[in-house]
Amino acid sequence: MDTEIVILNQDNIDKSVIKRAGDILKAGGLVAFPTETVYGLGGDALNPESSRKIYAAKGRPSDNPLIVHIATMDALRKIVTDIPDGALKLASRFWPGPLTMIFNKNELVPRETTGGLDTVAVRMPSDKIAAALIEAAGGYIAAPSANLSGRPSPTVAKYVIEDMDGRIDMIIDGGDSEVGLESTIVDFTAGEPMILRPGYITKEMLEEALSQDVSIDKAIIDTNSKTPPKAPGMKYRHYAPKGELAIIEGDSEAVIAEINRLSEEASLAGLKTGVIATEETKARYHADSVKSVGHAGREDEVAHHLFRILREFDDEGIEKMYSESFADSGVGAAVMNRLLKAAGHKVIKL
Ligand code: AMP
Ligand code: MG
Repeated sequence: MDTEIVILNQDNIDKSVIKRAGDILKAGGLVAFPTETVYGLGGDALNPESSRKIYAAKGRPSDNPLIVHIATMDALRKIVTDIPDGALKLASRFWPGPLTMIFNKNELVPRETTGGLDTVAVRMPSDKIAAALIEAAGGYIAAPSANLSGRPSPTVAKYVIEDMDGRIDMIIDGGDSEVGLESTIVDFTAGEPMILRPGYITKEMLEEALSQDVSIDKAIIDTNSKTPPKAPGMKYRHYAPKGELAIIEGDSEAVIAEINRLSEEASLAGLKTGVIATEETKARYHADSVKSVGHAGREDEVAHHLFRILREFDDEGIEKMYSESFADSGVGAAVMNRLLKAAGHKVIKL
């Protein structure tokens, strides 16, 4: 299949391109597009055939449900059986934005889109191109991240093209994704609100908006947990670079020394090495590739750069990677969740 690649400017969106992309989606085709979290691989969420095509293009297991992207609250009302008060509060505070909520679906949403579940994940993105495209497509776009299953989510169009060229109808290049991590997922269908996936909207922000405690799915925190995570997608090894990644945790000086030691050992064994460092520490490392993920203590910067850096290590053929550890609070909780998954939970504690 020929994939058309177009560049759009967030501040001056070419309406004729949006119309053409919307028509592709309405006809059951697939279009990758920018959002503020990561790039999405879009299809008509209410068309079971489109959802099947999304799973095929990604190589994604079909029990892993898709997020339905909407542009208005009216669109939400049409596809769910009820909207809990808490969800309304969160929608008015954080939509449009990087928050996904789980609702009980009605018959308009096909099971192909929800991986066979009676619930549906819904998000209203703030990205202007995404919002315009959703309207042009008829109101509902199912869109997982626009990467091949198992690879880090793309935050720049270059990596969407690498994974999806020839597999889908169109790719819209709208520049860098602002947040750089997938949305926070909150479930309301079990009564009390529960975070199923940490993201840019933190536990503290949700609790403040709801004036109540919000729990986190235990299976996400306790990796030895026997119960599977409530978001089926969280069980997969995700976000993984091709090489092997380890996280080194401890006092900053000890971490630097240990990463340099491990990197030298790997080099001597003939392996190409990479280090994920910060602006403050990057000059201290010796490896084939040292990359700064942002300033120490700025987990939002780490979120923005992390997936791109993992992809760049792949491009450079890096075989062994070492990363500093980051604070586990606020946005850092989401950063560490993704980093731990990318590392297959390999953590060296000093
Ligand atoms: P992605 O679109 O690639 O960011 O992945 C979507 C995530 O949302 C996956 O982890 C899914 O398991 C999760 N998800 C989607 N729909 C539901 C649902 N109805 N219930 C629980 N988790 C869901
Ligand atoms: Mg994904």
